[in-house]
Amino acid sequence: MTQKADDGNDNADGSDPRQKMPPEIKRYYEVHIRAPSKWRPFTIREVKASYIGQLVRISGIVTRCSDVKPLMQVAVYTCEECGYEIFQDVTARVFMPLFECPSKLCFVNRKKGNLILQLRASKFLKFQEAKIQELAEHVPKGHIPRSMTGHFRGEMTRKVAPGDVVELSGIFLPIPYTGFRAMRAGLVADTYLEVMSDTHFKKKYGV
Ligand SMILES: [Zn+2]
Repeated sequence: MTQKADDGNDNADGSDPRQKMPPEIKRYYEVHIRAPSKWRPFTIREVKASYIGQLVRISGIVTRCSDVKPLMQVAVYTCEECGYEIFQDVTARVFMPLFECPSKLCFVNRKKGNLILQLRASKFLKFQEAKIQELAEHVPKGHIPRSMTGHFRGEMTRKVAPGDVVELSGIFLPIPYTGFRAMRAGLVADTYLEVMSDTHFKKKYGV
């Protein structure tokens, strides 16, 4: 056992990449991209599928806000057999937990090491969802206002409240359905805005 994880993690034999501590767990900064303020903000109905993956600015009114919840970013496990730490990057809203230890020690000993999720060692991000609706003046006559879901992470949470008139910069992204809805939906996906920055115009519009 000469190989050792280069991040100084003594509690591993380095036989599997999942024993390496991902940089996200120690990262204390957040990166936010802001769309140039010279850009005219889109109304929600102007944001079409062709903008997927792009940075956009939208204007609207916040109609609903979820509570701020912890979202797992890195799951940390320890093995009952070998005691090694195992890390799992979580990149989606849902993830498949690991159950079996991937270390060489457990493999050599022919043990199916049971992994225990360590909530206190895992890394969580603050996460909030909000619905943004088109402003009345942007809705063509005889149409219903459209709305968009915004995802707020980390320091972006608790920035908006229902009734706020806002301009949001963010990345327009698809969110695939999961579970049973995915079976019915096929190739169709919902979309959301990964919010990067916000500008407020009016707090509590109409109150
Ligand atoms: Zn193990």
